[in-house]
Amino acid sequence: MKPLNLVDLNHTPETTGSWQHLLSQAITDPAELIRALGLPAETIAGALQAHQDFSLRVPAPYLQRIRPGDLNDPLLRQVLPVSEETANVPGYVTDPLAEADSNPHDGLIHKYKGRVLVILTGACAINCRYCFRRHFPYEDNRLGPDQWQQVVDYIAADSSIKEVIFSGGDPLATNDKRLDKLITSLEAIPHVERLRIHSRLPVVIPQRITPELSQRLADSRLQTVMVLHINHANEIDNDVAAAAASLKQAGVTVLNQAVLLRGVNDSVDALEALSEHLFRAGILPYYLFTFDPVAGAAHFDIADAEAQQLMSELQSRLPGYLVPKLAREIPGRASKTLLPVSSVQSLSE
Ligand code: SF4
Repeated sequence: MKPLNLVDLNHTPETTGSWQHLLSQAITDPAELIRALGLPAETIAGALQAHQDFSLRVPAPYLQRIRPGDLNDPLLRQVLPVSEETANVPGYVTDPLAEADSNPHDGLIHKYKGRVLVILTGACAINCRYCFRRHFPYEDNRLGPDQWQQVVDYIAADSSIKEVIFSGGDPLATNDKRLDKLITSLEAIPHVERLRIHSRLPVVIPQRITPELSQRLADSRLQTVMVLHINHANEIDNDVAAAAASLKQAGVTVLNQAVLLRGVNDSVDALEALSEHLFRAGILPYYLFTFDPVAGAAHFDIADAEAQQLMSELQSRLPGYLVPKLAREIPGRASKTLLPVSSVQSLSE
């Protein structure tokens, strides 16, 4: 394929530099984050305590989108460790999706028919406090060359597998050279048609969408889907929109999945703004997941009935293509479970 005339990312001076540099310079000290954002000093003790169980990580391009001095900022709430995380709440567990039961090889999860999920790396560019994999045993799932060959052999031996999903951690924490090798070995398996990449990196460090990566995806015989993870409209700035545009120019289908989170996006206004901003950036809303009951993050949870009410109101405000599917993952089910959403009118009858 001829080289793409790729969209240039409009970087601000603070966020220039390679994505690897930005990744390595991410803030990992709660006291530094609190100082950088001018937050009350009293928050440090709780942050340090919660950070012991699941460390803090916030890269500069994301930090710049957080309002200084506002403890209720919806982006800050996703990254700041808080004392509520140390509460032991019954029903909230370390493996809420029972992924350990669907792990035929290290680094491979085969839950659904026709597709497999490969955990390329345990690394993330940002640590999201609500993450359902915050306790995942990444150390036991390291994907070295031998494990990768086992994964490739497993996929090659099962002709029902049409789609391979790169997940993590964040699969785009893997460098372009290694990604190229992995994609090349999948392209050699005739029955694999699609590559899906689930990533938050183009959102938190948009510089990750390098011209080389876009070109590689454009050159692939696999149809490629990138599922971004954006929970709030304030996460989308010009650099994120440019990263999405670069992917689309490479022929990648760009979708978004969000998680419904208390204090982040639990209002119809927030969800409406998210869908509108996504579409303006060329990204289609795909799923809105209800919270997975992971230990340490119960304070983000929202009851299904409230989620359904929010969605029914959202449906009354937006065209259908801007309304994500409300879904829950239930361990052991053959697919995600869609939650029914009534119209506002029928709820009020
Ligand atoms: S980027 Fe994804 S995998 Fe990593 S902490 Fe956030 S939600 Fe979890």
